[in-house]
Amino acid sequence: MHVAVIGFGNAGGKIVDAILEFEADTGRSLCKDVLAVNSAEIDLAKPDRIPEDRRLLIGQTHERVKGRGVGADPELGAEVARRDLGEIDRALDSVPVYEVDAFLVVAGLGGGTGSGGAPVVSRHLREMYAEPVYGLGVLPSTDEGGRASLNAARSLQSFTDATDSLMLFDNDAWRQAGESLSSGYDHTNTELARRVTTLLGAGALDDSTVSETAMDASDINRTLSTDGVSTIAYASAELDRGTKSGLLDQFRTNGHESDTDYAQKVHGLVRRAVKARLTCPADVESAERSLVVVSGPPEELSRKGLQHARQWLEEQTDSVEVLAGDDPREDADRLSVAVLLSNVTDIPRVDDLQERAVDAQEKIEAEASARDDEVAELVTDENNQLDPL
Ligand code: GDP
Repeated sequence: MHVAVIGFGNAGGKIVDAILEFEADTGRSLCKDVLAVNSAEIDLAKPDRIPEDRRLLIGQTHERVKGRGVGADPELGAEVARRDLGEIDRALDSVPVYEVDAFLVVAGLGGGTGSGGAPVVSRHLREMYAEPVYGLGVLPSTDEGGRASLNAARSLQSFTDATDSLMLFDNDAWRQAGESLSSGYDHTNTELARRVTTLLGAGALDDSTVSETAMDASDINRTLSTDGVSTIAYASAELDRGTKSGLLDQFRTNGHESDTDYAQKVHGLVRRAVKARLTCPADVESAERSLVVVSGPPEELSRKGLQHARQWLEEQTDSVEVLAGDDPREDADRLSVAVLLSNVTDIPRVDDLQERAVDAQEKIEAEASARDDEVAELVTDENNQLDPL
């Protein structure tokens, strides 16, 4: 499918940049238009691939922001986004909406600009356009502390409500042991981009390679549009395409065995994907709908393998709402599988996040009232004999 992508805040911009990089590396064409929106000028300079004229600084005239960011305050992030909706609209005027199958709004939920702003803009897009609006939200890792959990748990509510589906990515599950924070994000952003682009980029072929079982945008929209939360599974295998002309390979491609091999490879990869780490770990059985995309060179895309994988996923999710299709890529050197598990309802990490958020909120409130008393005590003399001026 083709999407217009809006990266909100620092994480949003960097992840969109990683999507553009993966697209360029693999010859895909998912993004018809991109826009990075931020309240911090310094963060808007970070992406490498987002064109300069597709970066929008909001909150410039806001007395507390002035281009310096919202300081991890999502209320302020939401306010600034609301105030500058007109500017965001103008920036989106150039989006070729007739060529776009959906909008995708990307943000980290533990900070301020993305956490507060992404739901505001998603809601606005939904009012303005007939196309579905999807979110891609990043949950903070537990070591970021209570404030990030609180921001994320609150944003999760409004972002889910404002989108047709919110795809989740959990930084906690993807934290790289021993890596520095910034290089850890580079790696996780690449992994995230790989998953999102393989999934949503299906059916966006610019050449004439069309297969009978090709996935198209309406399949993806149908699976995603549940008003709930979704997660993505992924696996890939390198292909030794150089040996294609070998004797053994010639023999096998002519024989029945090769069909079975191809089918097993596809089926095996789908199983491996679903058993591996999801973008946000969830109980697969709780998915309402799912969709399998198998991407690779046309000769590798076994229809039988796809059928078996679909049947297997129906059993795993205990649901008949499973679509499977392929995404032929002549030049691909890997066979990749992305599985969308849509409207998952059993996500232990979200329960954990909410508990942490409630604890943090109680602590913040208790600290604020204790501090008021302490300040009053500090500025008042011991026997309260003095009158303020
Ligand atoms: P904002 O600019 O105010 O929206 O805040 P940030 O985007 O800097 O941070 C919000 C949250 O996003 C943080 O709490 C992190 O959990 C996460 N985050 C920040 N940068 C990245 C990134 O490059 N990749 C990923 N996966 N997460 C990030």
